[in-house]
Amino acid sequence: MLDFDLNMEQIQKHPIVATISIAAGAILASEVIWKMVTFLQGQLSGKKPLRVHEVLTFNELGDICAAQHLRSPDLSKSPDAVVLQCRNQHCTLRNVGKIVEQIDQAQYSIDIAIYTFTSLPLADAFKRALQRGVNIRIISDREMVFSAGSQINVLASLGVPVRTPITTYMMHNKYCVIDGVERVEEIRLLKKRKWMRPCCSVVVSGSVNWTRQGFGGNWENCILSADEKLARMFQADFARMWKAFENSEDKLKPKI
Ligand SMILES: [Zn+2]
Repeated sequence: MLDFDLNMEQIQKHPIVATISIAAGAILASEVIWKMVTFLQGQLSGKKPLRVHEVLTFNELGDICAAQHLRSPDLSKSPDAVVLQCRNQHCTLRNVGKIVEQIDQAQYSIDIAIYTFTSLPLADAFKRALQRGVNIRIISDREMVFSAGSQINVLASLGVPVRTPITTYMMHNKYCVIDGVERVEEIRLLKKRKWMRPCCSVVVSGSVNWTRQGFGGNWENCILSADEKLARMFQADFARMWKAFENSEDKLKPKI
């Protein structure tokens, strides 16, 4: 009783401080309860994560939660669980993290068709993929390969083959195919392997260029999809372009 009386006295003496303290306590408690509920849901369902099928949107609401993520580790190292579970569905860090998460799951191949690419978190994810032995190929726009901050140029210096159309028309695609079925089979034949580990084809595609402005300023979208039919169609498109731009590869020497 004494403690309770004392607390009531404190609240009456310092109502603003007490209100802020109570509000902060309530927010903290709700976060803890939310995490416990999502953990228990995962444990009880016993289900593995569903194959990705998601639309990411980038817009003016992308940084409203940025202050909350200040203490999060650098996304370029790996997608952070707290950021990935951010409840702001437009969160720039969460959405970039979701793309990085898919790249980090690539086992054999990533075929990229992109206009502009300067995003460091994505570049780091592709470097990690190269270290795992993943085969990466890039088709880009001839002018943009060597533009300021281009990560295409950086990846090319690490041995990634780059091709471009030689024309005044733009290579305006913004997609990549991860572990496309036909490409994985091509790699199996090249490496003369009898068997490859099971893997999941994923398409990353949308309006967004892989740049700071694209992810953190413009109004853009990006679809992540493990739909195999969709992945086959994108993979076929890439394969056609890769062959069509065969002669451009030698002329694209990295300039760094
Ligand atoms: Zn967020």
